[in-house]
Amino acid sequence: MQQSKVFFVSVSDADSISQRNDKLSRLLAAAKLFSKIKKDKLVAIKLHFGEEENAGFVNPVFVKTIVNDIKKQSSRVFLTDTNALYKGSRTNTIDHLGLAYRHGFVPDKVGVPVVIADGVKSDEDQQVKINGDLIKSAYIATAISKADAIVALSHFKGHIMTGFGGAIKNLGMGCASRRGKLVQHGGIAPVVMAERCIACSACIENCPVEAIKYVDKKAKISPKICIGCASCIAICPVAAIEVEWARGADTIQHKITEYALATIKGKEDSQIYFNFAIKITKECDCLAKDDPKICPDIGIFASFDPVAIDQACVDKIIAVSGRDIFMEQHPGRDWNKQLQHAEKIGLGNRIYELEEVR
Ligand code: SF4
Ligand code: SF4
Repeated sequence: MQQSKVFFVSVSDADSISQRNDKLSRLLAAAKLFSKIKKDKLVAIKLHFGEEENAGFVNPVFVKTIVNDIKKQSSRVFLTDTNALYKGSRTNTIDHLGLAYRHGFVPDKVGVPVVIADGVKSDEDQQVKINGDLIKSAYIATAISKADAIVALSHFKGHIMTGFGGAIKNLGMGCASRRGKLVQHGGIAPVVMAERCIACSACIENCPVEAIKYVDKKAKISPKICIGCASCIAICPVAAIEVEWARGADTIQHKITEYALATIKGKEDSQIYFNFAIKITKECDCLAKDDPKICPDIGIFASFDPVAIDQACVDKIIAVSGRDIFMEQHPGRDWNKQLQHAEKIGLGNRIYELEEVR
């Protein structure tokens, strides 16, 4: 049976940043993942710079180590992300760049520039045709679509819509332009459980499209206006906002994996992944607060296969925790769905061989 190789170096809570960085260097030396990048090809390093106050994003120290290794192959390297749908510091390019710089992703420090891939107005994308079950034509941010190679650095953590977020999520939702994200979120219109609403107005203030109003002193969402960004679900302090996950969860996970397939189209031999299972949190890095970790630090994974790396990562976390912390934190969001669909459409392989680097 075909297996994909996944490299792994363990990290413990007690390790300093410099010890972790040494381990990352050993991982890079053992895996030699960048040898396939042809000289001076354009390399997009896709990551999430972390929302304001969030501390889960991949540390710029690690990013610099990876950049230095890639630069042995190519000098045309940039860090990139796309603008988000929710209201925050990643909604437009100018704020997004400022946030990246504040979080340490400054060209002087990391050695390469930052490019927001969908342009100043979040409307620069390329239409990529695929033959997915749900997506036939995807909208991928131009700077990523036009790059020759993609190196996706993902903070592995829980996610409100997909159970966990790793390489597949980073590729699918993370590389789509605004209209691509809207397509993926379409059909996820949450509802307010009126009996739980305490009328705190947090969801109303944060909705990016003013889809929420008070009706009889309780928040109410207009499904006609809602774009399904899910930020109200994360922000409600009393968990009064829910999605019909039985209907919507599979659909969004399938769309994300099909978008991931579109992102790597033409880059099948130039895709490299790193998952940082460090500071594993309940929610993703879009959350504008320092989310506490929900299990000990595990380590850093590397692979050419986005499905194998996510599978290896979740398997290891469950093995170390002794339970499925993602299903526990996000009941009803079966993360298996993204892996099953990703394998079915040929994005990668769930069967893997784990090589531990010491
Ligand atoms: S109502 Fe819809 S658009 Fe507004 S925050 Fe909630 S999910 Fe996003
Ligand atoms: S955030 Fe929750 S509690 Fe506050 S108004 Fe919205 S639904 Fe009600």
